Amino acid sequence: LPTRRVLMEGPIEKKGRAPVGVKGRKPKRILVTGGAGFVGSHLVDRLMERGDSVIVVDNFFTGRKENVLHHMGNPNFELIRHDVVEPILLEVDQIYHLACPASPVHYKFNPVKTIISFIVHDGLDCLKLESLIPMWFLEHKTNVVGTLNMLGLAKRVGARFLLTSTSEVYGDPLQHPQSETYWGNVNPIGVRSCYDEGKRTAETLAMDYHRGAGIEVRIARIFNTYGPRMCIDDGRVVSNFVAQALRKEPLTVYGDGKQTRSFQYVSDLVEGLMRLMEGDHVGPFNLGNPGEFTMLELAQVVQETIDPNAKIEFRPNTEDDPHKRKPDISKAKELLGWQPSVSLRDGLPLMVSDFRQRLFADAKLNAG
Ligand code: NAD
Ligand code: UDP
Ligand code: UDP
Repeated sequence: LPTRRVLMEGPIEKKGRAPVGVKGRKPKRILVTGGAGFVGSHLVDRLMERGDSVIVVDNFFTGRKENVLHHMGNPNFELIRHDVVEPILLEVDQIYHLACPASPVHYKFNPVKTIISFIVHDGLDCLKLESLIPMWFLEHKTNVVGTLNMLGLAKRVGARFLLTSTSEVYGDPLQHPQSETYWGNVNPIGVRSCYDEGKRTAETLAMDYHRGAGIEVRIARIFNTYGPRMCIDDGRVVSNFVAQALRKEPLTVYGDGKQTRSFQYVSDLVEGLMRLMEGDHVGPFNLGNPGEFTMLELAQVVQETIDPNAKIEFRPNTEDDPHKRKPDISKAKELLGWQPSVSLRDGLPLMVSDFRQRLFADAKLNAG
């Protein structure tokens, strides 16, 4: 199939019909589930820039229309409000499957009686705790039924399918750094398992469709990622610290703050996802920045970037919190020619200016 495409593209390019900026490439029809979310919307920007036709399917559970508003009216762009747990019929060449209610506020702290509703007044926060939808149920349903539906779609139309899995499949890892050959250390009955096990099941489904139905599958295991457009109050550590420092609140460090994570800037991730999709390897591939920080070190970087006088407040840690996390990215380096290029100290200010703008708009709104 790739050979046929190359042959087909040659004459098109000679006739000058290739889209602007995409020499020698036939535009593709691409579905991005979860495309109104943080990572998805940055991916959509790159795909649109490349001249592809993009369909976003999102139920706006944690995503926001604002994230893709700048593409509205472009004939190459379509936004469909739809829950991937329900079947859908579309004709596409590639599927980036990102849809997932990935908010630690909910799956860690509100395992059963969590309520989700959209905060309309400022458009800042994506979720609010006040209803009765069990979060673990939504996690699992989306990861399992949603992934199954998207694989079914890929099978019907012969599309290539990329799953955004997570470093959480490694659980509280006993191997450090984690390479893709490590099978993980996940508690199957813990508070985080709806997410960890949901993604592990999604990986299994993807591989079963690959082996059993010949679907072209790609699997990315994404490590902690930050950047503009993150939900301000989604409870993830970088968004918490940045919002807290800007609001002049103390930075909440959970546990002793010595646990580590590796933080990747969103543009590096998007580049990795696109290389994975276009490349010849199924994966799984770790996509993350190997720079490892304790939460106290992260708090210090946030202080240096935003407010050296920001206070730190210790809070109890959540159950089953992984002690360490750092990707071994040798496989992605070798087979995808990919490695991150934005350090935490360079990426953080870009996220801070986005958060500052949104928080400032919020303050003005409330004052009004
Ligand atoms: P996000 O919450 O901003 O984006 C997820 C999107 O999926 C949202 O727009 C949400 O509305 C949508 N969605 C959720 N359930 C849906 C459903 N049932 N049907 C349709 N749409 C639905 O999160 P993100 O950080 O952009 O994450 C994107 C993907 O990357 C997720 O699959 C996540 O598990 C994975 N990931 C992210 C990180 C990270 O640090 N950001 C790390 C590991 C893995
Ligand atoms: N599916 C979908 N869109 C499609 C094709 C399939 O949403 O274009 C869903 C379908 O409803 C089913 C799932 O994907 O629930 C798996 O489809 P598959 O054909 O693999 O399994 P089957 O329908 O035979 O159980
Ligand atoms: N964390 C913290 N303060 C916060 C939020 C999170 O110290 O306000 C810690 C959390 O306990 C974990 C780490 O930061 O050890 C990363 O948490 P996050 O939810 O961002 O990602 P994940 O645990 O999924 O890697």
